[in-house]
Amino acid sequence: MPNSQESPVPVVYRGRFAPSPTGPLHLGSLVAALGSYLDARAHGGVWLLRMEDIDPPRIQPGAVDAILRSLDAYGFTWDEAIVWQSQRQAAYAEALEHLRQTRCVYACTCNRKAIGLAARQGADGPVYPGTCRPQSPSIHLQNPHAALRFAAPNACLRFKDRLQGQIVCDMDRDLGDFVLRRADGVYSYQLAVVVDDAAQGITHVVRGADLLVSTPRQIALQQALGLPTPAYLHLPVLLDAAGNKLSKQTLATPLTDANPLPALLMAMRFLGQADAHPPATLSEFWPWAIERWSPQDLPRWRGAPQSAPVNPQSPVHSLCNP
Ligand code: GLU
Ligand code: ZN
Repeated sequence: MPNSQESPVPVVYRGRFAPSPTGPLHLGSLVAALGSYLDARAHGGVWLLRMEDIDPPRIQPGAVDAILRSLDAYGFTWDEAIVWQSQRQAAYAEALEHLRQTRCVYACTCNRKAIGLAARQGADGPVYPGTCRPQSPSIHLQNPHAALRFAAPNACLRFKDRLQGQIVCDMDRDLGDFVLRRADGVYSYQLAVVVDDAAQGITHVVRGADLLVSTPRQIALQQALGLPTPAYLHLPVLLDAAGNKLSKQTLATPLTDANPLPALLMAMRFLGQADAHPPATLSEFWPWAIERWSPQDLPRWRGAPQSAPVNPQSPVHSLCNP
């Protein structure tokens, strides 16, 4: 059991790590992998691996193998067969069809420039101004070259993050209608994650706080599809000296597979899980880390894109203005 004050302790715990193969793992992705792994294992839970290889133009050749090699070298073990998003098109199409029948989808032919000119800035970039949104979203989506958007509910969405606390989001103001399938036919991250988290029976999502802006969208989709909402915990995100999230774009250094222990200990320290007597070997690391895992010691700030620390006194945090 984790050294935590959270209660009640869940009976079933199914967690996951869902990397996108846009590059090799780096210290930032290790933090997310480690946080989700330790939280699952400390709860006696199952931990799954999902390869989010859904967006062909963004996949880097060799990245899938590099990620699997690193996870293996670092000592992560997953409990079921890897789920590959590239093989799940039929499930995404089925979900989209359900949303179409319940009139939650419409075709959008706006280009990026038109949206940029008309849009306000929201919590996660420009808020789509609803230009193509019909009064009542059509059940006919004839244009094969249009993007398909989710007609997001005009509602205030609230959820409690296990670390970040109560989050409130005005869907219309902060996020707007988002894409479910791009004009080139690629299903969006938001749709794929919701369908796959449900299909894999995920009960607990632990991931970086850069994805906090995606969570209200995913919850709105879960509700529209009649799917359960998992518990969420958004970890602080590791930033580089310039304040950017570590990523392939910011040229984050890939993990060295030959010597995993220093990076694992660094990730533990970053997550507030330091200890006066850290283990000296990789095989000692894992039992120690699972035993040490205490969600209440996690630093309660988000990192990019909202770099302001969360005010622990405040009961509710707006997505736009933490
Ligand atoms: N594939 C996403 C990423 O690498 C993470 C998805 C998730 O954890 O929900 O950023
Ligand atoms: Zn449009």
